[in-house]
Amino acid sequence: MLVELITIGDELLLGFTIDTNSVFLGRELAALGVEIHRRTTVGDDHAAIAGAVRESLNRADGVITTGGLGPTSDDVTMPAVAGALELELERNDGVVARLEEIWRSRGRAEPLPPANLSQAMLPRGARILANNHGTAPGIFAEREDRRWVAVLPGVPREMKEMFNESVRDLIRARAPQGSVVASWAVRTTGVPESRLPAMLGELADGVDGLSLAYLPGLDGVDLRLTATGLQVGEAGEKLRVAARKLSSRLEPYAYAEGTTDLADVVLTLLRRAGQRVAIAESCTGGMLGERLTAVAGSSDVFAGGVIAYDDEVKIELLGVDREDLQRHGAVSEQVVTAMATAARRRFGVDVGIGITGIAGPGGGSAEKPVGTVWIAVATPDELVPRQLRLFGNREEVRRRATQAALDLVRRSLAG
Ligand code: AMP
Ligand code: MG
Repeated sequence: MLVELITIGDELLLGFTIDTNSVFLGRELAALGVEIHRRTTVGDDHAAIAGAVRESLNRADGVITTGGLGPTSDDVTMPAVAGALELELERNDGVVARLEEIWRSRGRAEPLPPANLSQAMLPRGARILANNHGTAPGIFAEREDRRWVAVLPGVPREMKEMFNESVRDLIRARAPQGSVVASWAVRTTGVPESRLPAMLGELADGVDGLSLAYLPGLDGVDLRLTATGLQVGEAGEKLRVAARKLSSRLEPYAYAEGTTDLADVVLTLLRRAGQRVAIAESCTGGMLGERLTAVAGSSDVFAGGVIAYDDEVKIELLGVDREDLQRHGAVSEQVVTAMATAARRRFGVDVGIGITGIAGPGGGSAEKPVGTVWIAVATPDELVPRQLRLFGNREEVRRRATQAALDLVRRSLAG
């Protein structure tokens, strides 16, 4: 089955919004064994949308659109798709009733604005797809020749929910049962991409017939395995076995599989050890705290932290020695170990993490160039400082420093 994707919105063309809907749908359709063979983006323009849908329907078995379902006059997807399918728009009373109910449940006293009623104007005969997270319903319309169009909202959360609730099953029922394209990743950090092939040896070009891609990013290199031409269960099993082989070759750099964040790994290790953590950050300004608290359920392990940016804050709140600061500078082994130790002691937890560095673009010197970062981990057994020389712009240095600090904790906990 061939499917085309049309993402709709001026903001996508102008580059203000990144088209993440295509990313999600690409992966989901691959998992169904359905091939997306073309992707189009058009603006919020009736003729452009209707033309794109007509052209796609001439080539493909099915078309999925996202975006342009809002209540305002700049959203014209529904009438444009109706035009392309030569279907009349008609007011759907069930949808009107639901819109009124949503409006009331949001505590609005005044009646539903007329603009919202445009969202109840739907192509006659199309199946209506409920939107549990917003006002705009979607539709699934099938022509007599069995070619179909699924019209989904632009808001990613609403689009995903609608796909998961109904569209996936509608497509699966129409797709011939067959092979899938499935991927699984091994995540590494702290090792440059160029060193990986030597570590992997004969696995470097692929594992057990699965292809291997190297995807470097700020957090490290992900190694993505891809299975093609296999049935769902078989692909999943092969991917997991191959991932285990890769991980064991990539010790101690491999920290997780799939999309798991290193912060999640660290929190799990701490939880297992019955330990809690606190942090003292300077150049990362809260980034480490953000990573840890982004993981649901982190509160049982993460106590809190101090953003000790100014020297006086390092002295007052963390008890860093003024003389150490003057003699060695804020970016030094003495200061970072004091920060990690203070985080541990002042929050009354088992593990303390400290980060201090020069994120740039200013503030570097010959001795301590931009990218010089000290990190430290204090545990009941040891105090481990590390000096890093990171490259990249300010944002990249901060991100890399955060990841390196998390990795230092992971390694310390893993023994
Ligand atoms: P719309 O349904 O066109 O009114 O879109 C509502 C919001 O969804 C827009 O403001 C965008 O932020 C977001 N959005 C629309 N299309 C996409 C897309 N392809 N990927 C990610 N976000 C999108
Ligand atoms: Mg829009």
